[in-house]
Amino acid sequence: MSTSERDRFETRAIHAGQTPDPQNGAVMTPVYLTSTYKQDWPAELKDGYDYSRTKNPTRTALEENLAALEGAAWGLGFASGMAAVNALMGRLVPGDHVVAGNDLYGGTYRIFARVFERYGIGFTYVDTTEAENVRAAMTDATRYVFVETPSNPLLRVTDLAAVGRVARAGGAQLVVDNTFATPYLQSPLEHGADVVVHSLTKYLGGHSDVVGGALVGNDEALREELAFLQNSVGGQLGPMDAFLVLRGTKTLAVRMDRHVANAERLAAYLQEHPAVETVIYPGLESHPQHEVAKRQMRGFGGMVSFELRGGVEAGNRFAASTRIFTLAESLGGVESLVEVPPSMTHASIPAEQRRAAGLNDGLVRLSVGIEHVDDLVADVEQALEKAVPALARS
Ligand SMILES: *Cc1c(COP(=O)(O)O)cnc(C)c1O
Repeated sequence: MSTSERDRFETRAIHAGQTPDPQNGAVMTPVYLTSTYKQDWPAELKDGYDYSRTKNPTRTALEENLAALEGAAWGLGFASGMAAVNALMGRLVPGDHVVAGNDLYGGTYRIFARVFERYGIGFTYVDTTEAENVRAAMTDATRYVFVETPSNPLLRVTDLAAVGRVARAGGAQLVVDNTFATPYLQSPLEHGADVVVHSLTKYLGGHSDVVGGALVGNDEALREELAFLQNSVGGQLGPMDAFLVLRGTKTLAVRMDRHVANAERLAAYLQEHPAVETVIYPGLESHPQHEVAKRQMRGFGGMVSFELRGGVEAGNRFAASTRIFTLAESLGGVESLVEVPPSMTHASIPAEQRRAAGLNDGLVRLSVGIEHVDDLVADVEQALEKAVPALARS
């Protein structure tokens, strides 16, 4: 690795895992479009490279880069966030149990409920913002406590140190999906997590042009188990995609600073608007876990959720009326996006279960991009006027 652990985040982001090519000095990591590698003698490998499902130099560069960003010993790149979750779940056997947040990315809930339940793995979903809920849900068979913080889409913040203690006391590992915060704003391994999950598709890629996932951690035995699954099951990240994410992580710090500043401004604006019923943003003092967020995060993120007076109808009208915010799933790219989770990203969670978890049908979620913030505020303002004409401010 070309960087030292003493280098700061921005420096590691640009250099970790990447050294100029020793043959020709190329500064950028090449996209190694090769499936196989020449051996000089049978089974005598150069640096462990024999086949690209197992290992590819562009993916290795990204894996080292991601490890450096999380302050971790290792990273593993997967074809998507869900492929990363799938590899993690591949360690479990029938009868094992997982305690998971009740406010998870819809696809994570779906792979648990519709794939792994069929394999005899049990799941209990709780509000993980109270560590006591996690403790009460754990059994002798609990292997993972699986937490998203801030969660998607309700932006609930879980106290990782507290939940980590509960997990360890019960002999389980703490898995943290750090997609929303990114390693720039939150370091789950420092707070007791055993494995960090990422959807690279979001802020780490950062340009809405690649789908990828990762697992990051410190324990070497765990790395070996997960690398075995990565290689055995497949689902690893391709070299072109690894290159795109490497390009994204170089600017993560500057992008996140702008995402956070823009989101803070929009959250404050929405909070004052008469057409808005509630705003959810960890940076607002009104957020129920604002204090935990201040302790655990270095910034409050670029996601803002809110409900309008006028419920589902108003929310849908808002989402269809924005000019700069594009109505689309996903998040974390430079461009602003708007979506309505109950009928889009979270439609795979049954309606009753959604409502029981506090995810109301009228919720609107913004992925605040890095456009000029005045343009974003103006766009939200005009869309609010169309969504709730009676309560428009002007
Ligand atoms: C998108 C997302 C995932 C899934 O990642 P993919 O790359 O879409 O497979 C998992 N967790 C969170 C929080 C996400 O936003």
